[in-house]
Amino acid sequence: MRTHLLIPSLLLLGSLSMATACSSGSSGTAGGTATAAPGSSATASPVRSVDPSKIKGLQIVSDNSEDTSCAWATSYPDVPGATAATEAMKKDVEARLALFRESCADAADASGAELNISHGFLVASGDVLGVRLTTLGGGGVGSGLSRRTYWYDGRAGAYRTALDLVGSGSRSAFVAALKSRLQGREGTDAQTLDQAFADPSLLAGELDDMAFTADGGLRVTFDPGTVGAVPAGSYSVTVPKKTVTPWLSDFGARAQRQSVSPSGSLDLGAAATPTPAVPTHTASGDDDTDCAKVTCVALTFDDGPSTAYTATLLTYLAQYQARATFFTVGQNVVAHPALVRAEVRAGHEVGNHSYSHPDLTRLNSEQVAYQLSRTSAAIKAATGTAPTLFRPPYGALNSTVRRATRLSPVLWTLDTEDWKYPDAAKVAQSVVSKVKRNDVVLMHDIHPTSVAAVPEILRALSAREYHFVTVSHLRSTM
Ligand code: ZN
Repeated sequence: MRTHLLIPSLLLLGSLSMATACSSGSSGTAGGTATAAPGSSATASPVRSVDPSKIKGLQIVSDNSEDTSCAWATSYPDVPGATAATEAMKKDVEARLALFRESCADAADASGAELNISHGFLVASGDVLGVRLTTLGGGGVGSGLSRRTYWYDGRAGAYRTALDLVGSGSRSAFVAALKSRLQGREGTDAQTLDQAFADPSLLAGELDDMAFTADGGLRVTFDPGTVGAVPAGSYSVTVPKKTVTPWLSDFGARAQRQSVSPSGSLDLGAAATPTPAVPTHTASGDDDTDCAKVTCVALTFDDGPSTAYTATLLTYLAQYQARATFFTVGQNVVAHPALVRAEVRAGHEVGNHSYSHPDLTRLNSEQVAYQLSRTSAAIKAATGTAPTLFRPPYGALNSTVRRATRLSPVLWTLDTEDWKYPDAAKVAQSVVSKVKRNDVVLMHDIHPTSVAAVPEILRALSAREYHFVTVSHLRSTM
């Protein structure tokens, strides 16, 4: 399997100001080609990242609100065979989302609240899968930044927690090693550490983020507030290979091996790894529609690509020779580059919708630039062409965001609110009854009902002699 040396945590937001360590002074760089993880020393070996497009049958499960007053975006992977790990992630994501939505509903003025759960792969090789979910915000319990790793043991057919990487008889030695490495770091002290590890029954929750570095060390990252004061941020400790190896469980030893030298392919013993067909429609040359002379509309689809629905949507659009614009999310592009290629081949435009769908107006300019440049790079890698347009998640735009990128922002003139109403007839009706010439229509291709609405939209508007063009085409000819 092709691997890159990248820092998974940096895939989320670039250099997270919240996560920079008090302990080392190293902060992530916006470039993303690697430096130490937050809280670790700058010379530490990085954790390898995985090319998710090589994981057969992978589906990214994502769901987003598009409402700035209760802004949330969640995603986690569904890997064939790893059902128990997928279930564990699903349960955690749904619980956090339910709590967040409750807090939104309770708050008189919820504006300012945001929940963002993104994913990254640690290992996907041999019989070992390791995934990290990173949660930002959320309000209430667990507010702030939190990371958790989820493991799947294909040989045993079982879900494993991070703590399961360490043999049960070696955990006290392991904890002692962590404590001695945390001693003396700024923002923590012996008393705080003794208290943090006093209750063994809490250990699995405290040590819930572990990953092997490329040189075989085991890196533990503690969420803010776990082993030091919250303002001190995350702490990261790496126990070197030589020290940690005798303490690993059988699964931990296999996970270490697959992290250091990935075997090339993932086999979790799935009964079937469905590989969904990628449409092969090709556009017939350049679009010569003149929107100054005929009635045009730009349909736009955000948040994909999605293995479950994007291919169907492409088929519908091809039936009407309709062109559209896809504002894709980077973490989905790297998982499904073939779908993004199919969009371009069929004559559609691909735009940038950030890497993990945060509200960009809450980030600093370096973080905004990272979210957008990483996604543009993924689109270019998939299609050969970098995008020129971006749509900010939640339509949230300010001067910092504008200045952080050369991409041209695109909002919309007709909002279907399709994410809120999972009803194809209602979505179709909202377009058919309200559309005007040169509208930019907002929809999302991660919802089955939104895609199911498209044939009726295409049929009804074609009958009224609308022409379906891309956003760039509309801008250049209207
Ligand atoms: Zn969106």
